Amino acid sequence: MKRTDEELSAYFKEFEHSIKWNTSKNNSIEFIEDEFINEANDEGANRVLFILVSPQGEILASSDLKAWKGITKKPKILLKFVNKEIYNTLYFSTERGDDVRIYSKPFDGTNTLIIGKSLTKEQLLLEIYCVVFISVFGFLLILGSVFGWLIARHAMSGVNRVTETAIAIENGDFTRKVPIGREGEEIKHLVIAFNSMIEKIQSLIFELKEVSDNIAHDLRTPLTRIRGLLDVTINSNPCSEDYQEMAEGIAEECDRLVQIINTMLEITQTDSGVLAMPKHNVDIIGIVKKAYDLFLPLAEDKSIDFQFSVPAQQIILNCDELRLQRVISNILDNAIKYNQSNGKIFLSVHQEANNIIIIVKDTGCGISEGDQRHIFERFYRCDSSRSKPGNGLGLSLAKSIIKAHNGSITVESSLNSGSEFRIILPYAS
Ligand code: ADP
Repeated sequence: MKRTDEELSAYFKEFEHSIKWNTSKNNSIEFIEDEFINEANDEGANRVLFILVSPQGEILASSDLKAWKGITKKPKILLKFVNKEIYNTLYFSTERGDDVRIYSKPFDGTNTLIIGKSLTKEQLLLEIYCVVFISVFGFLLILGSVFGWLIARHAMSGVNRVTETAIAIENGDFTRKVPIGREGEEIKHLVIAFNSMIEKIQSLIFELKEVSDNIAHDLRTPLTRIRGLLDVTINSNPCSEDYQEMAEGIAEECDRLVQIINTMLEITQTDSGVLAMPKHNVDIIGIVKKAYDLFLPLAEDKSIDFQFSVPAQQIILNCDELRLQRVISNILDNAIKYNQSNGKIFLSVHQEANNIIIIVKDTGCGISEGDQRHIFERFYRCDSSRSKPGNGLGLSLAKSIIKAHNGSITVESSLNSGSEFRIILPYAS
């Protein structure tokens, strides 16, 4: 439409120009009419029309209007264009039934030039365009819907598998896994995430079961002992010396129980971050040295060669001094407890990059590979150590405390040749 308007405006300029250059025939209506007819013939008399109207709406000159019966029958419709600079074009319908774009503008100071152009071609083009567009669009819409439905169904089959497995798990079957299909990356990620969640839940349930079994076992032993002592106490003479001993034994067992329960609580609170850990800047070498001094006599009692190596200068660390002492004490206690007479223990501290490394190495009974995976779990005790005193909570607490200092504790060991416990504490903690 814009192009048509530009074409009409170009005709107007062309006529204006032609009249100006032919000043001798300037006022000759015949000359203008000839120009109109020639121009209309060039374009096709059915396609364009040129009319020069007087200020009264009278047709002064025009191209062949035979094909434009709408104008010849009702010339009054031209009146609305008279003396008007209408750059905006108007429409009217011809008898042929096509639309005509009209452009009018005062021409020579008195009269008005009206130029019209049939829009048949453009309308035809538009109709073809509409048919093509609607059919292509319709086809694509149907194709898109079918494809979309297929893709959605394909993708949903993965989601359905996850749902089925979730329902199976809800019914107690924790062994179920969602098979990985070929529905695409997103579904694959969902399935992998879901499966790893099931694995995590499975291992949590397993751990929970193991811990509760261990708790039951570890609480039952002192309780059975208390019960046995009580039985003997009830049946013995209250004034006897044994009576006093038995009462003391009961008190000891009770203390042991309380200690187990307190340690369990401490581990849980440390892990969950509930326990306030007062941290101060302390010399880590001082802490390790204190532990060495404390355990040296115990090691000597067992004829263990206890060696110690630390840097000469202080290493200041922001930490909970008492809890860190407990961690080191626990590991040293184990190193002595699970060592043989005449064995060796080597305690050392050094710095590596931004970490402080504390190492406790012993020549004790060692820990099998299978047990190494579990010794940091609550109540876990290797079968070989069951004869020794202990409750299986020391390393678990040590791990919680070290974790609360953003550090880590690891073990390297082989059966019958000894173990090496390594504590890594980052400086920034
Ligand atoms: P416990 O009170 O039994 O010593 P811990 O949590 O301190 O509990 O240790 C868990 C288990 O790890 C011990 O029962 C023991 O079997 C094993 N263990 C720990 N330290 C050593 C070590 N230095 N040598 C051999 N076994 C060890």
